[in-house]
Amino acid sequence: MKQYMDAIVKPVAGPGLELRQVPVPTPGPGEVLIKVHKTAICGTDVHIYNWDPWAREHIKAPMTIGHEYVGEIAELGAGVTSFKVGQRVSGEGHITCHHCRNCHNGNIQWCKDTMGVGVDRDGAFAEYVCIPETNVITIDESLDEDIVSFFDAFGNATHTALMFPLIGEDVLITGAGPIGIIAAGICKFAGARRVVITDLNDYRLELARKMGVDAAVNTAREDLNEVMKQQGLIEGFDVGLEMSGNGAALQQMINSMRNGGKISLLGISNKPISMDMNTIITKGLTMQGIYGRKMDNWHQMSYMVQGGLDLSPIITHRFHYTDFEKGFEAMNSGCSGKVVLDWTTKKEG
Ligand code: NAD
Ligand code: ZN
Repeated sequence: MKQYMDAIVKPVAGPGLELRQVPVPTPGPGEVLIKVHKTAICGTDVHIYNWDPWAREHIKAPMTIGHEYVGEIAELGAGVTSFKVGQRVSGEGHITCHHCRNCHNGNIQWCKDTMGVGVDRDGAFAEYVCIPETNVITIDESLDEDIVSFFDAFGNATHTALMFPLIGEDVLITGAGPIGIIAAGICKFAGARRVVITDLNDYRLELARKMGVDAAVNTAREDLNEVMKQQGLIEGFDVGLEMSGNGAALQQMINSMRNGGKISLLGISNKPISMDMNTIITKGLTMQGIYGRKMDNWHQMSYMVQGGLDLSPIITHRFHYTDFEKGFEAMNSGCSGKVVLDWTTKKEG
């Protein structure tokens, strides 16, 4: 095992990231060292790159970032018996306490002491990442590593989309970012009748069309009510997935739901959002906050992909990790889906 490795690091408090040599972590008791094959860039990584107010508050430099990855087990810490070196794996990015009330009842996504890989401790944009064995997820060899690289984000989409029953339901998704588009694919796969997605970005709406949505609506210039009529909706949407973090989009969703409709809220805003409570009350809407993933979502994701859910349209860019700057540029341009970084090959050319 070599002693030093390449890693994409936030070197100091401020914008940007740097490719640096850092020590390869040593797995402690109960930990596993993973050799990283592929990683994907998440919106959170972009916040950290840009050093926005959220990043300034949460990130302690110097730190290796990144939490969407797939790789293989390189080394087992003392006492780890459930895994083998060479096994294909990914990892749940939220490291939880195992002792609080939610950890005890299986809702680890609500652990009161959760720590984020690549946010609160060193992450996976490196040749190796070290995590507790309880966070290791076995990945079947049949699955394409480019797709598995963003299972973490797929997990957010799965958690949100499958919160309420979908069979035969009409679904509105606000926000055609990578997670909204993946959620659209899940809703169609899970048997929704109509899936309508909104955004203000035509590039992303076009990507959503490739994922098989019934309508992709630019609400800056199209009337959602008209689209609902064209799609045969009579009383409004049954299920809403808020994936934009935008207050106007949420209010439009509230206005477009049928009485008794159910909304899952994933989108995070950088400022407080106000909404019309009277409409929520008189319509009898259910609003469910969604954070992270459930451990069971990891199984559902593998099985959906093996069952035929094709997420390949969402990958728009692939780069070698040494070209990570190009990946962040693509993400910041708004004209991207998932950006995958390759850590397995030597840089070409
Ligand atoms: P993203 O920022 O790439 O996508 C958000 C999309 O919403 C963008 O395409 C944007 O153009 C669109 N949008 C903005 N205003 C809109 C409006 N008025 N109507 C319709 N669309 C509008 O984000 P992503 O990576 O796809 O993630 C989706 C959201 O989920 C983000 O807010 C992110 O912060 C949040 N998130 C939450 C969790 C969680 O655990 N709760 C986890 C991951 C991401
Ligand atoms: Zn806990």
